[in-house]
Amino acid sequence: MAEPVYRRVVVKLSGEYLAGSQSFGIDQPTVDRIAADLIAAAKLGAEIAVVVGGGNMMRGGSARGMSRTTGDTLGMLATVMNCLALEAAIEAKGGAAKALSAFVMPEICDLFTRSAAHKCLSEGRIVLLGGGTGNPFFTTDTTAVLRAAEIDAQAVLKATNVDGVYSADPKKDPAAKRFDRLTHTEAIEGGYKVMDATAFALARETSLPIIVFSIAEPGSIGAVLSGTGRGTVVAG
Ligand code: UDP
Repeated sequence: MAEPVYRRVVVKLSGEYLAGSQSFGIDQPTVDRIAADLIAAAKLGAEIAVVVGGGNMMRGGSARGMSRTTGDTLGMLATVMNCLALEAAIEAKGGAAKALSAFVMPEICDLFTRSAAHKCLSEGRIVLLGGGTGNPFFTTDTTAVLRAAEIDAQAVLKATNVDGVYSADPKKDPAAKRFDRLTHTEAIEGGYKVMDATAFALARETSLPIIVFSIAEPGSIGAVLSGTGRGTVVAG
């Protein structure tokens, strides 16, 4: 079997994607499909950590009637729920998974530490990283880059609904230009909506490549890992 292009990666999955065609909550067939994709990708020999968003349940910034900090805390807790759903789906399919949270919640899952993540990854488990950074005012995109740097991952695989970074939303603007490659600085200066500027800036600082690809195609995580996938590479 060919070696994967990256030995260890962080996959960033948006919470919204887990809602499937619904606008809210967890769509089990979608979670099962992603679990199967992650298991197949791990079989290529790569170590995979997953940072899951929470937009399918809660986005703090848009919460009404509460402080930003409280809203963000709800958002971070939503990401833990998504991790637990994915962990269960992976295990139900016979895969090895481990959810780790940025918060101490011993009855629910173990705490994220660099050493815990290293250990689980080296045992071949798919590691689900919940709770974001553990701090309000950040996003799970930034979390994905932060965790990738902390656990010595070689790339962040940013799953989206389209096959890369475009100059405008290709679903709205047929003239939108798709990029095969961008530098981190070009991604920041272009203001492309695919990831927030804090995430790109941290990736630039830590020299981490980000591969933006579409999760809509089954098997796309494995395709990116084996170097046959389609996506935009954002790298210095
Ligand atoms: N969040 C936070 N700190 C973090 C990560 C996330 O406060 O380090 C909160 C924030 O309110 C965010 C929500 O959790 O809106 C869900 O995360 P995100 O919007 O990144 O999820 P996604 O869009 O990927 O589903």
